[in-house]
Amino acid sequence: MNTLSKSAQLRNAYGHGRFGLSYEFFPPKTAEGEADLFENFSELVKYNASFATCTYGAGGSTRDRTLGIAGRLKREYALPVASHLTCVGATRDDLTAYLQQAEALDIDYIVALRGDPPSGETKFSPVQGGFSYANELVAFIREQFPGFGVAVAGYPETHPEAPNRSTDLEHLKRKVDAGADVVITQLFYDNDDFYRFRERCAAIGIGVPIVPGILPVTAAPQVKRLAVKCGAHVPKSLMERLETHPDHSQGQFDVGVYHAIRQVEDLVSRGGCPGVHFYCLNKSRAVATILRTLTLPNVEAFRNT
Ligand SMILES: Cc1cc2nc3c(=O)[nH]c(=O)nc-3n(C[C@H](O)[C@H](O)[C@H](O)COP(=O)(O)OP(=O)(O)OC[C@H]3O[C@@H](n4cnc5c(N)ncnc54)[C@H](O)[C@@H]3O)c2cc1C
Repeated sequence: MNTLSKSAQLRNAYGHGRFGLSYEFFPPKTAEGEADLFENFSELVKYNASFATCTYGAGGSTRDRTLGIAGRLKREYALPVASHLTCVGATRDDLTAYLQQAEALDIDYIVALRGDPPSGETKFSPVQGGFSYANELVAFIREQFPGFGVAVAGYPETHPEAPNRSTDLEHLKRKVDAGADVVITQLFYDNDDFYRFRERCAAIGIGVPIVPGILPVTAAPQVKRLAVKCGAHVPKSLMERLETHPDHSQGQFDVGVYHAIRQVEDLVSRGGCPGVHFYCLNKSRAVATILRTLTLPNVEAFRNT
């Protein structure tokens, strides 16, 4: 039996001879979608994931489904799981009720987020009795639910609402100082953005693992949408390579997955990253191809444990 606290388990997923591999899913809307998710997860779990995470919909819209999926992953795979949780539309009582349910389902970690403003609104407004920023949610979890490990979001290319890079970084530090165990980053396509971000984090004293978030592109229109939504810049060379296959979905898939393979290989071998978080979008083909292709020694060692 593992006697470490969940916080220590989450931190220990990275380094100490381990390569931290996590997969993010979102709660599907239909029974077919759920069956598809679990089929894809069964494929990915072969690569010895450290934990899986399930996102939380805007405005708490997927609240029950998030817990349903996270709970089922935990029951069926005996793997640590994280539920994402946002402050959108939630009072402290709502958050307490959610965290109690998560505890009852034996959820291990919480990815603690503020969340985006509801669609049509540009500014985030907390509900009365709720929180304005993720650092408040982290402090609340630490105080009221110390049994959870806590991850928070970091932005290599700066959060879109932040007035500037250094203020955004100070806000990230607040989340870590409030008790976050790890930082998982927003997706990015140019590793230099990540490396510069990681250096800035170290310079202001953020000492927890900074885990790169990777979303393999599988189609050109998808990367254009994501770039706008997440504020990630897409290198011109990647866009040009994708566009050499205008009507060829397999060609675009190959280009996107090859880019992700190169990214992860570099992050681990040159960047010494202790793990990777994959935005799986409930599919396994792209991520499984990446993990099958990588022959990095520590990934191999990890895979064989
Ligand atoms: C790994 C990851 C997982 C995600 N999962 C989900 C999900 O499941 N569901 C979902 O809806 N969204 C999710 N998101 C998106 C996220 O909700 C948005 O990016 C949201 O806009 C910001 O959330 P946050 O937790 O980073 O907010 P915060 O850290 O609170 O930051 C929000 C903004 O406020 C500023 N700020 C922070 N603290 C302060 C402060 N104390 N005073 C003044 N300004 C401050 C920051 O600089 C930033 O500009 C995820 C993002 C990532 C990277």
